[in-house]
Amino acid sequence: MGMTVPEMYGSLVFNDKVMRDKLPKDIYKALRKTIDTNTHLEIDVANAVAIAMKEWAVEHGATHFTHWFQPMTGFTAEKHDSFISPVEGGEVIMEFSGKELVKGEPDASSFPSGGLRATFEARGYTAWDPTSPAFIKDGTLYIPTAFCSYSGEALDKKTPLLRSMEALSREATKILHVLGNQEVSSVSTTVGPEQEYFLVEKEAFKKRRDLVFTGRTLLGAKPPKGQEMEDHYFGTLKPRVAAYMHELDEELWKLGIPAKTKHNEVAPCQHELAPVFDTTNVAVDHNQLTMDVMRKVADRHGFVCLLHEKPFEGINGSGKHNNWSMTTDTGINLLDPGKTPAENIQFLVFLMAVITAVDNYADLMRLSVASAGNDHRLGANEAPPAIISIFLGDELTAVLDSIENDTFFGDQQKVRMETGATVLPHFFKDTTDRNRTSPFAFTGNKFEFRSLGSSFSVSGPNVVLNTAVAEALSEFYETLKDVTPEKMVETVHALLKKAIKDHKRVIFNGNGYTDEWVAEAEKRGLYNYKSTPDVLPVFIQDKNVKLFTKHHIFTESEIRSRYEILIENYSKTIHIEAKTMLDMVNHQFMPAVLKTMDETLTVAAKKKTLDEGLSCKAEKAIIDRLSSKYDALYDAVQILEKDTAKAESMSDGLELAKYYQSTILEDMSKVRELADAAEELIPEGVLPYPGYADILFYV
Ligand code: ADP
Ligand code: MG
Repeated sequence: MGMTVPEMYGSLVFNDKVMRDKLPKDIYKALRKTIDTNTHLEIDVANAVAIAMKEWAVEHGATHFTHWFQPMTGFTAEKHDSFISPVEGGEVIMEFSGKELVKGEPDASSFPSGGLRATFEARGYTAWDPTSPAFIKDGTLYIPTAFCSYSGEALDKKTPLLRSMEALSREATKILHVLGNQEVSSVSTTVGPEQEYFLVEKEAFKKRRDLVFTGRTLLGAKPPKGQEMEDHYFGTLKPRVAAYMHELDEELWKLGIPAKTKHNEVAPCQHELAPVFDTTNVAVDHNQLTMDVMRKVADRHGFVCLLHEKPFEGINGSGKHNNWSMTTDTGINLLDPGKTPAENIQFLVFLMAVITAVDNYADLMRLSVASAGNDHRLGANEAPPAIISIFLGDELTAVLDSIENDTFFGDQQKVRMETGATVLPHFFKDTTDRNRTSPFAFTGNKFEFRSLGSSFSVSGPNVVLNTAVAEALSEFYETLKDVTPEKMVETVHALLKKAIKDHKRVIFNGNGYTDEWVAEAEKRGLYNYKSTPDVLPVFIQDKNVKLFTKHHIFTESEIRSRYEILIENYSKTIHIEAKTMLDMVNHQFMPAVLKTMDETLTVAAKKKTLDEGLSCKAEKAIIDRLSSKYDALYDAVQILEKDTAKAESMSDGLELAKYYQSTILEDMSKVRELADAAEELIPEGVLPYPGYADILFYV
């Protein structure tokens, strides 16, 4: 009965092999062309593909199909239609047309649009993205799609991603051609996202309103043991966790997601999963699916999978590492240092394009990882600092130094660095970076953007990366486009020199967790946006609007709408947290304190009935401590209540987001501090929800 892994792998995916088996040859060719070169698909081809897809899906038990899309909520959306079509005699047949495959019209009026749909059309439509394969999940055929308004505005996270991939491909190909690499006709970006998550007991989860409503704990005294022993990192998997991971792997493999590594992370109950990298839009779809499957499989194992960036205070939160590179259609990784002089030039040009891009658009990169949840991590010495810088490692930095200063590189070899006149020593691959404090690290043949939050769609950060690098490449192209082949090496050398001079300030190989770095970064003029409301306005700054409109990633109104949505999401998130905290403190925590005081008083009174002379020293001390905390907590709650009510009367916008950040979060942290101090005096079982120790150490 059991399937081998190769049999299982991709068994629920309408992949290339299935297409070749199921489609007439000419149809397969036409579809392949659409996928590979992004060309229009004729309706008769779509019809033939739809028939084959439906037959395959029905064979695999599917009864429904759905256009699967990624609205601005950050989650995925789907609306299921069955294949059935009634025919005469009260019977049904299973039907699916090319039209249904290619285009859908979900009633999408309640998805966030940041005002876009109000000014245009109320309805949106979904369009098939044939570059990401369809798959079957829970008896439904899923068709990956992009989601747009009728006037063509992007309402989702996929459309701008596809546009940014095209922009990068266009600019990278132009550069490769001037460098003499004529065989390349397209370049795709690749992404391998490492995903962190927590597993907690379902029963414990359900009892905590903060986890249920906000995904993180808003109260909770620290357990006697935290992560200080570092005994969890790469530790042995507990049997239930191992069983979970095993099933998770299998479910992902069936969906064609190459889940590869899994291990325990630093915090107790924290784990990580990394797939083998893929083309960016497929990787984005797969990461969304991975998060979804993680939650579903957890439920079957009596767990809840927490993807929030900071579920527990005092314990490391969860992030996502976005490993990123560029690959030509001829199979060359452009961030691989290579072995020949020509490859060296190519590598250095693309490397410097990335460095230029990150330096010029570090503000947008910071924006792309900003959220209320991730604000708890960035800069908190458990995740990269909020300052975006690049780790290159000492050797590669020395290579750039030698180019900048026309000096010799390498102690023994005394290789003259003329950017390609001599072969770069092929060592970078082995200098795997263990500097965990850098937000953006070169790791041999790719960059690793480490600032993403665990719950993020990886789309946003890759839109920024792709576009910023496309822009740097297009600037390089302006310098190189009219240069004769004889002058090319010399011109490239001058271009690299200038780029290094202009942008080396963004390179930092030291410890990003220190105060010295914060001061040094300020001296270098690097951005340091500490919170989400701080960084949001960069989205609508001239230089950034120019970038996105120049490369046709966003129109100005799309930028506006996304900006509004980000602001609104931030304020809403904190509003819900404040309300949840008030609910828990008023209805659960304060009554528990009262109950403890009452029980203590009862004991003291009973003692007196037993013997007037008995001391009640301890009881009195407990009452004293609890009572003063209770009073202070009461006051703090009043303030939070009043300030939250005020927020409700304020009009939306950046000011409100700032108010939530500066006032409400402050109020909440005061409430929490007092409650957590009082919690230590409350006996076991009096609070109606489990504490940190029960949640973190009982899986
Ligand atoms: P580490 O924990 O050291 O960062 P992992 O092995 O957990 O390393 O993750 C590395 C990730 O980088 C994997 O998902 C891997 O597939 C991905 N990766 C490797 N090469 C590339 C590439 N060229 N482009 C994008 N991602 C890549
Ligand atoms: Mg990593």
